Amino acid sequence: MLDSDGSIDVTESSELTPPDRTLMGPGPSDVHPRVLRAMSTPLVGHLDPSFVEIMDEVQELLRYTFRTDNQWTIPVSGTGSAAMEAAISNVVEPGDTMLVPTNGYFGGRMASMARRAGGEVVEVDAPWGEPLAPADVSDALAEHDPDVFGFVHAETSTGVRQPNVSELTAAAHDHDALVIADTVTSLGGVELRVDEWDIDVAYSGPQKCLSCPPGASPLTLSDEAMDKVLSRETDPRSWYLDLSLLEGYWGDERAYHHTAPITNVYAIREALRLVAEEGIEQRWERHERIASALKAGVEAMGLEMNAPDDYWLPSLNAVCIPDGVDDGEVCDALIEQYDLEIASGLGDLDGEIFRIGCMGHSARPENVIFVVTALGDVLESMGADVDPGAGVSATRRALE
Ligand SMILES: *Cc1c(COP(=O)(O)O)cnc(C)c1O
Repeated sequence: MLDSDGSIDVTESSELTPPDRTLMGPGPSDVHPRVLRAMSTPLVGHLDPSFVEIMDEVQELLRYTFRTDNQWTIPVSGTGSAAMEAAISNVVEPGDTMLVPTNGYFGGRMASMARRAGGEVVEVDAPWGEPLAPADVSDALAEHDPDVFGFVHAETSTGVRQPNVSELTAAAHDHDALVIADTVTSLGGVELRVDEWDIDVAYSGPQKCLSCPPGASPLTLSDEAMDKVLSRETDPRSWYLDLSLLEGYWGDERAYHHTAPITNVYAIREALRLVAEEGIEQRWERHERIASALKAGVEAMGLEMNAPDDYWLPSLNAVCIPDGVDDGEVCDALIEQYDLEIASGLGDLDGEIFRIGCMGHSARPENVIFVVTALGDVLESMGADVDPGAGVSATRRALE
């Protein structure tokens, strides 16, 4: 702390040396070394001709990754919640009605943001741990006639992947509602086709399946959604996230709005280059293959997955906590003994599940063998009825 004369002695601390964790929780995931190297390259100005080129590249790589031709595709300065707020606070106008889901933590965040934008919130119900049923979405659309329908494609709080997306978007469009999709934990990890599935607006985050540090977050809007944004009667309340102003910087003009987080744009460029090098479909396939091995391991050990195969989310595996152990103690032991991060449940699934991420650079064979080994060891030492050896063998077999 400060000395009495207001000075501070930095010789008492050392240069930063964070612990070397393996990140297998709900995000952030492990960052690829190439992304870290990109972040240690020199700054240029945010309007430097070389940076303008980088902006173009990032936009094109984002279109590739989202599977979209949307002109309006940018990295928003900030974390996933900034891209989320940019989507909701621009598309939802005061007096609009937005239909949101109740089946997880992030649907609740959509509702809070819609209310702050002056919108009226109505809900389509499903329990935590289950996806939305298309019939329930249709009924809610017919009952409430909303202007906007939001859903979470990959619910990080429950490990549920929303199936039938095209059915949901078709139903919404039948009622002239625009569709906003939360794709934070699916982009770059789980099949997502923005154009083919007719999603109007999708936002994401860099630190989940893109394995990039948080700071510049993907957002894409169709022309139709952007038309609504550009013809608003009132300005959105946020100046910083006003897409009609951001158009000046990311659109043709390239004029100053705010200083882009240059280093984070470098980072996402490299992270997205890694996606394109691997191939987006191969990347989805890798996540599924690696997460299947994780799933095979925890099941062979004697644990149960919370989500059935129909809507299991490979990038976030919800594993039921076995009897007799405290989830918080298990997570603490994994950090202390193995430098390994996984997470416990939250909201309605608090105390029910572990959340094990399998995202981006973390979705590697050696990582899932490590997780299954470490989790089996810690659970057994705490008295749970598990067979760690069977778990590791099943994981290895699945990876062969
Ligand atoms: C992580 C996450 C967010 C929020 O992203 P932040 O980067 O934490 O702001 C939103 N939605 C989902 C589904 C997420 O997993």
